[in-house]
Amino acid sequence: MARDDFGPTLLYVDITNACPIGCAFCMYLPVQGKQHLLLDSRRTATLKRLLETVSRLSISGEGEPLTQMARVLEVAALAGPSQVVEVITSAGIPWKMLERFLGDLEALALARGFTPRLRVSLDRWHAEKVPHHNHLPLIQRALVHQGQPGTTQVAFRSVTTERAWVTSTLGAQLAATGLHHAWSPVHELTAQLLVGSLHIPVTFKNLVHPEQTGTADPLPLEEYLHAIERVTGRPFTFGNLESPRRFAGPDVTVKHNGQVLLYGLEQERTWSLDEPGLDRGRILDALLADPMLRALYSIPLLEIVGHWRRVPALSRCLDSVNNPYWVLKVMREKHGEAFHRVMQDFLVMEAA
Ligand code: SF4
Repeated sequence: MARDDFGPTLLYVDITNACPIGCAFCMYLPVQGKQHLLLDSRRTATLKRLLETVSRLSISGEGEPLTQMARVLEVAALAGPSQVVEVITSAGIPWKMLERFLGDLEALALARGFTPRLRVSLDRWHAEKVPHHNHLPLIQRALVHQGQPGTTQVAFRSVTTERAWVTSTLGAQLAATGLHHAWSPVHELTAQLLVGSLHIPVTFKNLVHPEQTGTADPLPLEEYLHAIERVTGRPFTFGNLESPRRFAGPDVTVKHNGQVLLYGLEQERTWSLDEPGLDRGRILDALLADPMLRALYSIPLLEIVGHWRRVPALSRCLDSVNNPYWVLKVMREKHGEAFHRVMQDFLVMEAA
């Protein structure tokens, strides 16, 4: 296993931890506040280096990125040709504001050569909380601007696997406007909404902390992992699963406080945007040097989950936290000793 074996980096930049909405199911609710990502020349240089090997930059947050539009544009301006810049948002702001933001993003996309994309929450839980629902205007705008250079691609994502809610709710809204639409294959975690020649991808995820919403919706962790594997066509490991290479590329997140981490594995290793010279190579070297990180990036997680299942306390964590990117953190926090013991035994067995 060497640096060249890894696929492209996936870079998430969490622009802010502030969100005015406050959903009970939000996995970040306990850590939300009012801190935004601040960039100086050193941090900007680090971000540019990290971006060099990235095909998709996702601007997101422990909060709502569109509360910080100028910062979103500042980060997007670092991207360039052949890169996708995706903003993940509830888009629950007045349509005029959203339209102005899309105009600014598209002007930047044309100047810098990147492809802009808006990935908007679409699920029952967000629908109950966000004050403005802009799915329909977004579809109508995408139809009008379709084919024009620099036009924002639209995608939807549901924080639950409730496919029927999404198809019936959006279907009813489209039908009311007279827009003909169809759903082309609706799989367990993906669907395509077809409106005329417009294709809008929809993705479905397992709800984190379902106990706070009183829903029995989520798939058990193992079923969820199998479903992801059927979508991506490769065994689930940590890392960028959109990788043509043997090993998934690093899935890097920059937090609003400048911390840099591997998504889902922040308890294992962190860096800082302020660290001089930080780049993908340094992150990969750390990943290769650490037996636990190496295992989590190269061994199918389902195999490792089988070992966690043998310890009742860890098994209970797997039952309550059904998201692979969340479960390590919870096991470490609640049953650190047991987790450490199982992983040590597993790594010794793997090395033998
Ligand atoms: S809108 Fe998103 S970031 Fe804000 S509280 Fe809800 S889930 Fe969390």
